[in-house]
Parts: sequence; structure tokens; C-alpha cells
Amino acid sequence: MRAMILDQAGKPLTLREVPVPEPKDRQVQLQVLACGVCRTDLHVVDGELLNPKLPLILGHQIVGRVTRVGGQASLLSVGQRVGVPWLGWTDRDCSYCLSGKENLCPRALFTGYTLDGGYAEFTVADERYCVPIPETYSDIEVAPLLCAGLIGYRSLVRTGDAKRLGIYGFGSAAHIITQVARHQGRSVYAFTRSGDKQGQRFAKEQGATWVGASDARPPDELDAAIIFAPVGALVPAALAAVRPGGTVVCGGIHMSDIPSFPYELLWGERSVCSIANLTRKDAAEFMEIAPKVPVHTTTTRFALEQANEALNQLRSGKLQGAAVLT
Ligand SMILES: [Zn+2]
Ligand SMILES: [Zn+2]
Repeated sequence: MRAMILDQAGKPLTLREVPVPEPKDRQVQLQVLACGVCRTDLHVVDGELLNPKLPLILGHQIVGRVTRVGGQASLLSVGQRVGVPWLGWTDRDCSYCLSGKENLCPRALFTGYTLDGGYAEFTVADERYCVPIPETYSDIEVAPLLCAGLIGYRSLVRTGDAKRLGIYGFGSAAHIITQVARHQGRSVYAFTRSGDKQGQRFAKEQGATWVGASDARPPDELDAAIIFAPVGALVPAALAAVRPGGTVVCGGIHMSDIPSFPYELLWGERSVCSIANLTRKDAAEFMEIAPKVPVHTTTTRFALEQANEALNQLRSGKLQGAAVLT
């Protein structure tokens, strides 16, 4: 099969012919129908996330059709269409796994990071960690829901019942979660890079009440804010925009250093938290909600061999919505 392979951080991916992986035990083999490109992939390529499996096949927003099942697989069968998200395996017996926090499992394995992912024609995945996909979505349309959607949803839940919600960084996760937030009756205040008129117009189209530059003060005090951009300086900026008691949720897996800031910004029982990975429960909940909203994704399609170009466009902020490899 053909796969785009990362041999070393800092180097572009290379297209190579490799053997089709065999499904073992509870794994299933999947023909990859579509695979979303995530900012996390960029952090792995750029060496900001340490110790990936090497050589590595990236990609953790995989839509695939089961082509073979492992000897002990019992949940999925050949022909079924499923999603493979970032959380690829957990030990199921540590204190985190046993308390509904499998996203924090210290032995967890992650698709497209410590396990091979979906920048390829085929992949294998543990059937217990595959996600059911709503029938109504096409392969390309549903791919971004598998990480941007799931992590965005977990971030949104963490904001509680915030009515006035700030979102910093308007990419794949933001465009999905704005639709869910609007559906729930919340108002979204979208912050983009200053001068990013195209991004601001896109945020408006997705339902944002107000759009502005990331250092601008919104017209209303925010109840909570989610930061999707990997920029630490946005933490004090968001704290300055939320009301006393408000929460700032950092939704990304990697962020540049957070500059020091006066205690006054945190005072008033404001809090800052991060979202790490996802649980299978998040996935099940979100896949129920998405078609009801209904969430529509804006995607740009790339061929498998154009993966480097997709990553470059994501890095430069040129993409609107999400990139998907087919
Ligand atoms: Zn565990
Ligand atoms: Zn991701």
C-alpha cells in the first residue's frame, strides 16, 4: 500500500510503498476512505510533541471501512464504516481508566503518534476504540469531527453553561464547535489573528455574534473562553476578557510558553484549565449530537501524496475549516 511516512521530526513526509498491516487480536484492518489533518500532526512533524513512534504514519481522524478482523475481534465486521480517533488504546485497569478518565491513562497509545495512523491506504485499529459514524455524513465531511469535533466538544463541555463564549483561533475545531454552541443558545465571540479578514468573515458565516483580533476587547464580558490557537500569550488575553468566576479552557495539545501576567487577571475566581485527549464517552455523545445540530464541516480535499502541502497550508493559517486527505 502507499503511505506518507515521517522518518524524522523536522523533515517532510515521504510517499512510500509498505506492506498492508495485518489485524492482530482485537484489531480490525481498515481501508482508509478519508483522513483529516490536525494541528497535532503539525506539532509531531515540527518536533514539538516528543518521542513519536518512528518511522510513523500520521493521522488520527480516520474514516475507514473494515476489510479484515483480528482473531479476537467481536464488535465490528467486514464492510462496516467506522472512525478511528486519537485515543487508540488504554490499559483499562489504572485508576484513571477505572474512574472514567481514560483520556489521562499513563499507558495510553495514540493514533498517528505512538501508533500508525491514517495517512495511508490501509490501517489497523483496536475495535474497542473505534467510533461509530452517523450514516448521514459523507467520508470527507465526517473526518474533521473525529478530533477537531471531539476535542472541541470536550472543551465546550468544560465551559459549563457559559452563555457568552469566546473562541481564540478560528480553525477546524472552532468552526465545528461554534455551530454546536449556537445550537445550544450560546453566543460566540470569535478572535482571530489581527487583520485576518477572511478568517473573521468565516467565523461570522459559522454563526459568531462578534469577531475581532485576538488582542481586542469584546463588547461584552465573556462567561468563558476556549483557546484553540497554540499561542500561550492568549491565556492572559482571554483571562482579561472573562468575567469573575469565568473559565479559560486551553483546547490544544501543545502551546508556546505562557508569559507571566499580573495575579489580578486570575483573581476573582477565574480559572485556567487544559483539555487532554478524549474519552470514548465523549466520542459517543458527540456523534449523537453532531447530526442533530446538524454540524456542517468546511473542508479542503487533498490527495494522500499532497499531505505535506496540506500541513504547510495549516501551518501558514491559509486553510479555512479543515484539510482532509482522500
Ligand atoms: Zn489506564
Ligand atoms: Zn487532532
